[in-house]
Amino acid sequence: MTSAHQPLPPEEIVTLDDPETGLRGVIVLDSTRLGAAAGGCRLWRYPSQEDATADALRLARGMTYKNALAGLPFGGGKAVIREPAGPFDRVALFAAFGRAVERLGGRYVTAEDAGTSVADMTEVARHTRHVAGIAAQPGRPGGDPSPWTALGVFRAMEVAVARRLGTTLAGLTVGVQGLGHVGFALCEHLHQAGAKLVVAEPRSHVAARAAAQFGAQVMTSSALAEARMDVFAPCALGGVLDFGVVRNLRATVVCGAANNQLFGELQGRHLADRGILYAPDYLVNAGGIINVAAEYLGWDEGEVRQRVDQIGARLGEILDLADQRGLTPDEAADLVAQSRIRGDRADALAA
Ligand code: NAD
Repeated sequence: MTSAHQPLPPEEIVTLDDPETGLRGVIVLDSTRLGAAAGGCRLWRYPSQEDATADALRLARGMTYKNALAGLPFGGGKAVIREPAGPFDRVALFAAFGRAVERLGGRYVTAEDAGTSVADMTEVARHTRHVAGIAAQPGRPGGDPSPWTALGVFRAMEVAVARRLGTTLAGLTVGVQGLGHVGFALCEHLHQAGAKLVVAEPRSHVAARAAAQFGAQVMTSSALAEARMDVFAPCALGGVLDFGVVRNLRATVVCGAANNQLFGELQGRHLADRGILYAPDYLVNAGGIINVAAEYLGWDEGEVRQRVDQIGARLGEILDLADQRGLTPDEAADLVAQSRIRGDRADALAA
């Protein structure tokens, strides 16, 4: 998400401070204009409350845009818990967090994020119903959202490649950086589609599995960023598209799951100037939040699949708008998200 346009201030910042359990952190309700502020709960080491709050503000704003662009009936929010320095009672900590979520009366809906698990959210669910990411019931959405995120990225990549290269993924070389929950599942789709894979993953046994299963060529992360490939799929870290990487990238499409891939506001323009099609990260990686929304709202799996499949078409619309307005794809995505958050008429951005 770039901030080229006037940002609204966050609606509410709730401090978490429970000396009994050691729960410290913050819940940010960035926007409830389109519905409850939805976004996961991160457990991380933060040196100070200010650092935790700054991270939560940035992440919550990202969720507002992501949920709006995905057409979900949710605003954006995020919880950040500061991991206690010493040993702590994890169940008690998440029980206290669940009570804090409950006090917000449904204005904030939580789920997993970095550092939190299905088990943690199951404890939260003992204290509030405003939580998703609990173990799935058979045939119902729930549990790990990563396979849906991977499918959405794959659908977007199909469209991006058709636009930029006029072809399918068969026979193209795709570089996948990070073979975690999303990256590995993305490789499965790509392998099935006949793409050649080059991958980077510090866990060598996982990289070896990708080599055996998909015939993937394994290299270091920095070598991957400069390798000869058609598509680069960042699926590990934020900020990976910095000045150096953008300058040396040989791919013509960037489409991956990692959040906040652009190091700064200039990189979207630099990519466009180099003729590289950048598929906005928060558009293409929305499959997970769609699954989370379905679990919370009681949609069935067919609805999730249909909405995730639409991510490709949505990217196509954003690329059309970018072309019409002379914008980069990330600028066009921001424009549409902001228009939805304001509640503009559906045709407000028509050319
Ligand atoms: P994950 O932790 O399961 O996987 C990340 C992988 O990246 C790990 O295998 C890790 O070893 C690897 N890695 C770390 N540093 C690396 C480096 N320098 N080079 C290459 N690989 C490196 O995370 P995930 O759930 O697969 O998510 C991946 C990214 O997608 C994250 O940025 C996440 O925020 C984003 N995302 C995930 C989801 C989801 O549904 N899981 C949804 C939206 C966005």
